[in-house]
Amino acid sequence: MSADNVRRTDVLIIGAGLAGLSTALSLPKSLSIMVLSKAALEVCSSHYAQGGIAASLDKNDSVTDHVADTLIAGAGLCDANNTTEILSEGQQAIQWLCEQGVPFTQNTQQDTKQKTLTDLNSTDLNTSDLEISNLHLTKEGGHGCRRVAHADDATGRHVMEALIIKAHAASNITILPYHEALSLLKGNRDNHCQGARVFDHKSHRQLTVYSRAVVLASGGLGQLFQRASAPNVCVGDGVMMAWQAGCRLANLEFIQFHPTGLALDDSSFLISEALRGEGGRLYCPQTGRRFMLDVDERAELAPRDIVARAIAEQINVNGLGYVHLDVSHLPAPFLQEHFPQIYQTLLTLGIDITTDPIPVAPTAHYSCGGVVTSVNGMTDIVGLYAAGEVAYTGLHGANRLASNSLLECVVVGRNIAADLPRYLTEIEVLDAELHTSAYRHNLNVSANDIWKTPILKNTQTITLPYFTSSTSNLYDYHEASKHCHSDADMTEIIIKLKALMTANMGITRSAKELEEALKQIQKWQKWLKKPELSSLNSNDSDSNINRKNSAVSIDELTHLQLERQLQLATLIVQSAYQRIESRGGHYRTDYPNLAVTPQTSVINPLLDTREGSIDWLIQPIIVHSGARAIKATTAT
Ligand SMILES: Cc1cc2nc3c(=O)[nH]c(=O)nc-3n(C[C@H](O)[C@H](O)[C@H](O)COP(=O)(O)OP(=O)(O)OC[C@H]3O[C@@H](n4cnc5c(N)ncnc54)[C@H](O)[C@@H]3O)c2cc1C
Repeated sequence: MSADNVRRTDVLIIGAGLAGLSTALSLPKSLSIMVLSKAALEVCSSHYAQGGIAASLDKNDSVTDHVADTLIAGAGLCDANNTTEILSEGQQAIQWLCEQGVPFTQNTQQDTKQKTLTDLNSTDLNTSDLEISNLHLTKEGGHGCRRVAHADDATGRHVMEALIIKAHAASNITILPYHEALSLLKGNRDNHCQGARVFDHKSHRQLTVYSRAVVLASGGLGQLFQRASAPNVCVGDGVMMAWQAGCRLANLEFIQFHPTGLALDDSSFLISEALRGEGGRLYCPQTGRRFMLDVDERAELAPRDIVARAIAEQINVNGLGYVHLDVSHLPAPFLQEHFPQIYQTLLTLGIDITTDPIPVAPTAHYSCGGVVTSVNGMTDIVGLYAAGEVAYTGLHGANRLASNSLLECVVVGRNIAADLPRYLTEIEVLDAELHTSAYRHNLNVSANDIWKTPILKNTQTITLPYFTSSTSNLYDYHEASKHCHSDADMTEIIIKLKALMTANMGITRSAKELEEALKQIQKWQKWLKKPELSSLNSNDSDSNINRKNSAVSIDELTHLQLERQLQLATLIVQSAYQRIESRGGHYRTDYPNLAVTPQTSVINPLLDTREGSIDWLIQPIIVHSGARAIKATTAT
């Protein structure tokens, strides 16, 4: 690789959403920081978040109550210690966001006026007038009280606009949009994470970025599903890069489906939970029945999994593809003032929410599982931190409590920023000692002393199929080029994969559906392995590869993306297949009951997976006596 294609930085942050930028802005200014974004900066879930950020700010609320609500929603699978640690930092996190210039909605009429971005830009902005004691708080499903700080109904946009202004102004931060990380780099000698291989979408070149530490903040994986609220950058790249490099993954089967995505054509627009929090009601369009009253005493404010399943059942019966969410009984000025984005967006689509019901259906929304991470963001690999939706800290358990995820991005991002300078100093000392000492084995300090890998309790290991590529680098372009198929064929499979995941790995699952999904994914994986050299032999300039210049064709990139998505889909489906119970966001029609002992499902790193035959893919269910749930006598 030529010197042009090599970059160096102190800290490489993969992802420019709330987790990535919170980390970048909280790190010392003395460190050079490079932040990658796979697409344009505004294309991230953080930007689209509407409802807000949960924290116990009200005088009648407490961290204890917030923790209790989170543990209930998490259905026995939250890590109670990590949950308490993260939620205890809620107030400081909101305070920090206020200091960055986030124009949270205030209680009084005067303060309710949102500050314009011009105001935010001005150097004499007085942040003290954004008092956290005076923030307007909303109530969302599963929360026992008003606890969600917000900026109108476009919290994510306001938060991200404020942070992006700050990040652009920071001379130590370089943001690189349209730069996609492909794999993580580890040192040969010490196995520490030392950067990433990156694809520059503008020049179609591969770069190698060397760094002293890496922060994975690449978001979730919702776009593996057909109807999803997250933008198309969210396909689980970070989860796969970390797994490949040696990290454990946890609880991948817990995909949260948001009950109320807008069910209009292919729209991915979300109708915020806050609308139900303010009194929105769900009706069957045909009978006008308010069906949630029959399902749960909390009615529309029951936890998301319960509401989403109830809506899915209605849709199965009514055949319309949607139910109605109605807020027309609320005062029109209130709706227009508190939900300006939803009001305006729907008005342009011909729905006046002050008079008309909104067609809604569940949509894939959030990944509760991810890369096993401590509250300080440490993963299993020395030098690799993770924060945000890519990470699994145990905060969300089997079902995330609404508005806890933005909070986690800020808290864990800031924790990483607090720990990372210590790590850099100590690893430097250790490296120096290793270089100079002739008696390395006698050294008292080792990387394990300066890096505490996360500890998981009560786990169930997911048994995996044999991955034929386990010993090779999956994201080797040369390898990929041997198997390159046409972009159109591969794009078609990506679309079919989404449909398969929604149909067979959706709100409800069964062994039969999951086995079908595994078989189909396996077929696609086999097809992908077949050598189809036609595209590389063509005269198409995109397909002509000049290896010396690190140029890469779009077909090769699509091949790598598809391969990665098929593997991730396998991991998710296997996790769901081997969890033989129903809990939180995971509902098995063939195992509708809770297991006696809640267990976190863990996937060991790729390099540790046992080798065997490809037939492992359709593996008999692993039964753990302690966790065994009662099988349904008849399919439900
Ligand atoms: C519509 C919607 C509404 C929501 N509302 C709320 C809410 O009100 N409250 C709440 O708490 N949560 C909400 N959530 C969830 C919350 O927004 C997300 O969990 C959170 O924003 C995730 O932040 P993140 O920084 O981890 O990832 P993101 O904000 O998704 O950012 C991911 C970043 O990683 C980059 N990236 C991805 N792959 C690569 C790669 N290979 N190389 C380089 N860069 C890469 C992307 O380009 C992007 O910059 C909502 C989510 C959605 C989709």
